[in-house]
Amino acid sequence: MIAGAHISSAGGLHRVPERAAAIGADGVQVFIQSARTWKPTAHKPEDLAVLRAARESGQVQYIACHAIYFINLATDEPELLKKSRSALLNTIDVANAIAADGIVLHVGSHKGRGLEATLPQIVTELQTALMRLDGPWLLLENSAGAGGTIGRDPVELASIINAVDHPRLGLCIDTCHAYVSGVDVTNSSQLDALVTEIDTRVGIERLRCLHVNDAAAALGSNRDRHANLGQGELGKGLAVTLSHPALSDLPMLLETPGAEGNGPDTAEITALRTLCKQGVTRRAKAARASS
Ligand SMILES: [Zn+2]
Ligand SMILES: [Zn+2]
Repeated sequence: MIAGAHISSAGGLHRVPERAAAIGADGVQVFIQSARTWKPTAHKPEDLAVLRAARESGQVQYIACHAIYFINLATDEPELLKKSRSALLNTIDVANAIAADGIVLHVGSHKGRGLEATLPQIVTELQTALMRLDGPWLLLENSAGAGGTIGRDPVELASIINAVDHPRLGLCIDTCHAYVSGVDVTNSSQLDALVTEIDTRVGIERLRCLHVNDAAAALGSNRDRHANLGQGELGKGLAVTLSHPALSDLPMLLETPGAEGNGPDTAEITALRTLCKQGVTRRAKAARASS
């Protein structure tokens, strides 16, 4: 398995491999600019080269770049759309430069206009972005389902992926978001249904990574509150998702608060590995019992 985590890039992207190593993470997710501003960060080429070299040597086994949350490809405000486009293209440029595997994107919110009404614009924007890709996949993440956010359900993301029809447009599923959107991913039959839904609509090979978070909010609450592993609503039940045969080989990236609130730490990475093992063992036992 690739046990990864969102890692701070404060002080430069060259700091990321050492921070990942310090908590025992094999893979990383990074913001390539401050999540709180539109202004792109001017990265030093040598900083980018350090991260790229870590990926190419296998010291870091997976890199996802998370695009900033302000991006809204479904907006009807021309100025916001322009800013969204340039932020996404900038993210892609950096992702290309560091040999990232994936770029994780929240499509945005249609603000009540509905996906149907905004789909043509989203498709156009994604096509522009995809032309700029040189290596990574562009991965649409499922949302927590609040308001008009697009992707509360994989069917919405599938309809976008099918409308764009590009070989490197895929999905990132966040376990917390799925849960607060109403899919109990600790329940085998609900999880199987989710996996089948994705496979039927876009092909399971388009699912490229998992965001592994416990949820501090209730099933179907649409509240995006991540909890540390084992400490939220999903608890040990998260092992059901982590050990699913269609999911267990995917890179798994933590976005949990960590004990200190500074992001995923050593304990979180350990908990992730332990939960995976427990799930695999339980599945093997169940399979033996039924054969
Ligand atoms: Zn996420
Ligand atoms: Zn979230």
